[in-house]
Amino acid sequence: MTEMTRRTFLAASSGSLVIAAFGSRGTAAPADRPWYATMRRCGQLNLNERDPLTLDVASWIDYWSSLKLDALLLNGGGIVAFYPTDVPYHHRSEFLGSRDLFGELASATKARGMRLVARMDCNYAYEDALKAHPEWFERNRDGSPRPHNESTWLYKTCMFGPYFTAQMAAIYREINKRYPVDGFFTNGWPSTGDLTVCYCENCQKVYGAIGGAPPERVDASDAGYRKYYDAYMNRVLDVWAGWQKVVTEARADSVYVGNLGGGIRTVKNVKRLGETAHWFNADHQGRAGDTAIWDCAQQGRVAQAVMRGRTITNVTGAYSNSRPTWRHVAKAPAETTMWMAQTTASGMVPWFHWLGGAPEDSRWESVGRDFFSWLAAHESHFRNQRSIADVAVLYPQRTIAFYRSGAGPHGLHGNERVQTTDYLQGLYYALLDGRVFFDFVHEDDLRPDVLRRYRVLLIPNAAYLSDDQCRRVREYVAAGGSLLATFETSRYSEWGDPRPDFALGDLFGVSAGGDVVGPTGNSYMRIEAPHPVMAGLEGTTLLPGPEQRLPIRTASGAGPASVPLTVVPYYPAFPPEMVFPRAPKTDEPAAVFRELGPSRVVYFAGDIDRTFWRSGNPDLARLMQNTVAWLRGARRAPVTLEGDGIVESFAWETERGYALHVLNYTNPNMTRGFITKTYAIGPQKAQLEIASGRRIASVRALRSGRSLPFSQQGAIVTVEVPAVTDYEVIALT
Ligand SMILES: [Zn+2]
Repeated sequence: MTEMTRRTFLAASSGSLVIAAFGSRGTAAPADRPWYATMRRCGQLNLNERDPLTLDVASWIDYWSSLKLDALLLNGGGIVAFYPTDVPYHHRSEFLGSRDLFGELASATKARGMRLVARMDCNYAYEDALKAHPEWFERNRDGSPRPHNESTWLYKTCMFGPYFTAQMAAIYREINKRYPVDGFFTNGWPSTGDLTVCYCENCQKVYGAIGGAPPERVDASDAGYRKYYDAYMNRVLDVWAGWQKVVTEARADSVYVGNLGGGIRTVKNVKRLGETAHWFNADHQGRAGDTAIWDCAQQGRVAQAVMRGRTITNVTGAYSNSRPTWRHVAKAPAETTMWMAQTTASGMVPWFHWLGGAPEDSRWESVGRDFFSWLAAHESHFRNQRSIADVAVLYPQRTIAFYRSGAGPHGLHGNERVQTTDYLQGLYYALLDGRVFFDFVHEDDLRPDVLRRYRVLLIPNAAYLSDDQCRRVREYVAAGGSLLATFETSRYSEWGDPRPDFALGDLFGVSAGGDVVGPTGNSYMRIEAPHPVMAGLEGTTLLPGPEQRLPIRTASGAGPASVPLTVVPYYPAFPPEMVFPRAPKTDEPAAVFRELGPSRVVYFAGDIDRTFWRSGNPDLARLMQNTVAWLRGARRAPVTLEGDGIVESFAWETERGYALHVLNYTNPNMTRGFITKTYAIGPQKAQLEIASGRRIASVRALRSGRSLPFSQQGAIVTVEVPAVTDYEVIALT
């Protein structure tokens, strides 16, 4: 058994043993699980260079201890050393004086029973290092170094050079030797975002090996970019594994933690990162602009898809990381709390973060303390063993990273670049609105043992899929699973090479009949025949059409039962005199519905997911929700939640029993931050199918702190919570 499968196995099978021996605090862990596997609360004070002049260690450690933290992150070094380092060119804080601030903090942290993780920064160094070690630094095409855009006296270091392998390793070893640290975290690196392109001598060697410098923008159509993507990922994973090795030289249970995150927008391969990471930290601290509130829960779903029960933390910025950002004032408390609630509900561990050792704003302190105290009081209910959901959403990572729609070169439509996350985002919103419980499954993880427990697999325009991924989807349907796919799903290889036809055309029952049409508004879908998916859409024969569609042909003999929706093509929307259909009725299918033995397969030729996200038209959401219900068939969902309001829900089997998490997003600031007030929603009725033979003895609402009446008939437990303010956890034991 590999180490990873062994740990996953233990996490899934030995829960009852763990709780018997190690009850309330996560700092004690059995020898066969690392300490961070049981961590539930994490905090960080992010020091600045001047803090050694004034930092009051005792009062800070009092504060963090009051949050009942399992682990505290404090600045060790990298850009600035907060201890008297002897590593050459490791810049000591110029305000350090005779102080060993990290040493003082380390002793105080350990004395209060908290684990200590040294927060490092590997991304920049000072000019004296640049002069002595020019090979450590990134270069522009003309050979010039790359100063930081604000702090211009710092220069960007290169991941391919010896700064990462030699200098950072020397710093880790020095800290490990002097201080009782339990792990190391690097700020900013490697991230899940775009690759960077550097022209230093080390990178030139990389380019020599792959046949030239890659394009500086994401361009998976370029052969050089493809090779660079793999070389870049390999280097990231080599550095990561190397640092894990270095930090465990002195202490076997230490850990290196990289900086990931980015929600559903990822370019780097998170599946591969998850295989190397012992602990996945999502640096996804808050939202700005018109980002939807569920951005944090989405981060949780992405991370769960690659970590499968292993440790995931998500940083919550207590400061106002909006647009613009204010580092030294607090975020709206209701927003901060909802971020930590999403972190917890999605099965991640909250990591509460403040910047600067001398705050003039103290309003954030009670926000973290209140939430963490509540977490600590109910800790066993947050030890999840598995998600209870029978719907999987394929996380289409390569499409999100690389997709350029067939509608134009570079995915440009007029002046508008296609947002490759819009397809997933539209499906996601429809699932929340329809109160569907679901998990993400990464496209590189479509193994039968992963997919087996899902009745339905939903694929929101995974245009870029490999032959092997398509084979896995086909096997899933052959084994009895049901499938929804939209738009260009499987039309391209994993790198975006167009295929002559859909790789999954046999499943969809269609072949491609031309290039993408659109984007255009004012096209329609015509209801040709009654079908269960039209429930709630009575009173019209026209439905809003997708902005983009692929012309398709069905296999001969496909009748109205499998093609209940046809395309009414675009016609002008202006001026009103011109607004009439030029082709009111066609036989071009807008969607195909098939029954293949026990499986059902639905394919939508248009981007109804993305069009829903852009338009908000509820007919499109209804169509997707009804489709999910039709795909599930007569079999009941293992968990349901009924009531008014927009909520996001997670259901977990826990060490104690079951926990149903309900996040109330019903708020005028749902899609534009910040939430400043919460608005309670009324009764929510849940039904949960539990393990057969199990009796539930008690149901409690953990946020409102009350017992809930419930009934159990066979394996079905029914419970109603009278109201949900911001967040509620219904715990069944
Ligand atoms: Zn370089």
